[in-house]
Amino acid sequence: MSRYPLLIDGALQDAEHYDEVLDPANGQSVGEAARASQAQLEQAVQAAARAQPAWAAAADSRRAALRQAAAVVREHAAELAELITREQGRPLHFTQGEVAGVAATFEHYAGLPQAPEQVLRDDGERLVRIVQRPLGVVAAITPWNVPLILLALKLAPALHAGNALVAKPSEHTPLSTLLLARLLKDVFPAGVLNVVAGAGEVGERLARHPRVRHITFTGSVATGKRLYAGGADDFKRLTLELGGNDAALVLEDADLDAIVEPLFWGAFWNSGQVCFAIKRLYVHESLFERLVAALAERAGRTRLGHGLDAQTELGPLTNRQQLERVEALVADARANGARIHSGGQRLEGPGHFYPPTIVSGIGAGVALVDEEQFGPLLPVIPFRDVEDAIAQANASHYGLGASVWSRDETRGAAIAARLEAGLAWVNQHLDIHPGAPKGGHKWSGLGYEGGQRGYEAFSELQVINVAR
Ligand code: NAD
Repeated sequence: MSRYPLLIDGALQDAEHYDEVLDPANGQSVGEAARASQAQLEQAVQAAARAQPAWAAAADSRRAALRQAAAVVREHAAELAELITREQGRPLHFTQGEVAGVAATFEHYAGLPQAPEQVLRDDGERLVRIVQRPLGVVAAITPWNVPLILLALKLAPALHAGNALVAKPSEHTPLSTLLLARLLKDVFPAGVLNVVAGAGEVGERLARHPRVRHITFTGSVATGKRLYAGGADDFKRLTLELGGNDAALVLEDADLDAIVEPLFWGAFWNSGQVCFAIKRLYVHESLFERLVAALAERAGRTRLGHGLDAQTELGPLTNRQQLERVEALVADARANGARIHSGGQRLEGPGHFYPPTIVSGIGAGVALVDEEQFGPLLPVIPFRDVEDAIAQANASHYGLGASVWSRDETRGAAIAARLEAGLAWVNQHLDIHPGAPKGGHKWSGLGYEGGQRGYEAFSELQVINVAR
């Protein structure tokens, strides 16, 4: 049985309790994650606070360390990708892509110059400068659906900007983050990167720690609200990347043959366990029946299996709670008159497999349409008037992503611009430009991750005004 220790103050630490992580495809043990005690959490935060000032003073070392981190990740890419597949479920070629993205993210920040100071006035009377200062200790709390890239998108800019970090991965997929911590142990000075593990209580204690100045969080709206409220006591800075209920609008002039495959993957990549997956599909009535049939046909021939099997297109759901939620949403949709065109039932066996499921006959007012399902379910809803489709797409607390599908790029982009979402696409869904600031509107988040705005979240401005 392999055990994965914590990383605290530059050393690997065992814990009193270990939590077993099971492979969602077959129920077999993948390994055990150390659960951080209260004392270990305290040690991690204090170590970060001690290490941070020297780290902030050494910009060149920071860039060199990030470059080395990228090299270490590349060297161990196969091991990291296999572990993500085994604890999270996604097919190996996708997790290999995730690990390559982690290395590319580290490299991107390694190549980024430090933010230059801005001089507002420099004359015989005054020197007025604006400088960016790191915040100090940053807490990074991450979910289970794409565990390592979501951590890298926080870790790299936070450390580049001169902060020290305490990371807390999801209790469902802690092992890949703990393995990364082990691999990076000697890359950063002791205390600059710490990884603690455990369930929500560990995250909550970390987030409320008075030495933590910034919380960068990816996860559910419910946890995001708790963190926002909990941070009020000492005005913590927050970046919240939360859930979504993305709508895709297929206009009457869409190229039906060309869009089936990208719509399928936009909805079902990672078995739908993606914050910005297509979760509601609005289709012009002239295409509705043909598109439902084509999607159901594509879904029906999907190869489900273990992510380490090269034939597999979709793996299992990552945990039992998610499987049960998907089952409950389908039962509720059926009770509300839904028609199921593919899937609709979990597969027998120890794995958490649920086939891609195309549903029609329901609309607003049914949980499968109104809520974030975060699973392999896609309700398809017809519309006659595009204004009505836009209104339905926007009638949601969520505002993460949205897309428009049309042969007319100009009209598609004009409609995309009217959708209330931080990410809007035309004739695609999911692709994110590496330089793009990613953030949700409305309940889907606060602030941005990536891009200039995302980077600036990891520092504060100081105006230094000298009288001469
Ligand atoms: P979650 O909110 O349950 O958990 C996320 C993390 O927060 C985990 O590490 C968990 O242990 C921790 N946590 C739980 N309770 C906490 C508390 N009270 N205080 C501090 N930390 C706590 O979310 P999840 O189920 O792991 O992830 C799925 C959700 O994440 C979905 O809603 C999905 O849309 C969202 N997500 C958003 C993005 C994005 O970029 N916007 C990306 C991926 C996932």
